[in-house]
Amino acid sequence: MTFKASVITLYPEMFPGPLGVSLAGNALGDGKWQLDVTHLRDFGEGKHKRVDDTPAGGGAGMVLKPDVLASAIDATSPPDDPRPRLLMSPRGKPLDQKLVRELANSPGAVIICGRFEGIDQRVIETRNLQEVSVGDYILSGGEPAAIVLLDAVVRLLPGVMGNDQSGEFESFETGLLEHPHYTRPQSWEGREIPEVLTSGNHKKIAEWQRKEAERITKARRPDLLEKLTKKEST
Ligand code: SAH
Repeated sequence: MTFKASVITLYPEMFPGPLGVSLAGNALGDGKWQLDVTHLRDFGEGKHKRVDDTPAGGGAGMVLKPDVLASAIDATSPPDDPRPRLLMSPRGKPLDQKLVRELANSPGAVIICGRFEGIDQRVIETRNLQEVSVGDYILSGGEPAAIVLLDAVVRLLPGVMGNDQSGEFESFETGLLEHPHYTRPQSWEGREIPEVLTSGNHKKIAEWQRKEAERITKARRPDLLEKLTKKEST
């Protein structure tokens, strides 16, 4: 079964964008995942294809209309669609590698990109949208967030990464940030590659990498280390 992403957006020209290049782009070309894009404007009302209106209760900005969004969602994803429906939203569940992995194991995703002040609450409820955030900052629209999410998911799909193992030892998969990397030249601007890495002693190398990963995680993200300690003690 091929992972199928359907994106609903006011800016279809943003897709595939970065997802059409390199790893994700090659995989798309090879049919290892599919992408279709629904233009929200096509479901707009009247001569001007209106998709938004002023916020109830007043205030700045505009809100995407529930009826227009629902028509676009229903045309893209029938009620029996097994794929999760995701709304990119700063108040959503934070996107992390665990959620990325869950999504990579699902048949695909329907992704709704918000714009303006956001979208009418009622369509979130009636169309069962799961809100997902890419971080504690505000983007001007959901499209870059959707691209981030899909990039992270697609690289985990079967056959997408060249070396099938390379996904497993990276930052977050082990619960730790990754150790530093080095490559030739051996000596560069007076700095040497740490000796252990050129020793050929795989056990020592693994120990060094683990120690470095712990040191960096402790310094930069003590919250991750705390989570890991809890997990290991249960
Ligand atoms: N008024 C909203 C922000 C709207 S930003 C608020 O204060 O919460 C416009 C759109 O950009 C949103 O509807 C959402 O789809 C997208 N967006 C902005 N920041 C995002 C984030 N951190 N993660 C995911 N989507 C985001």
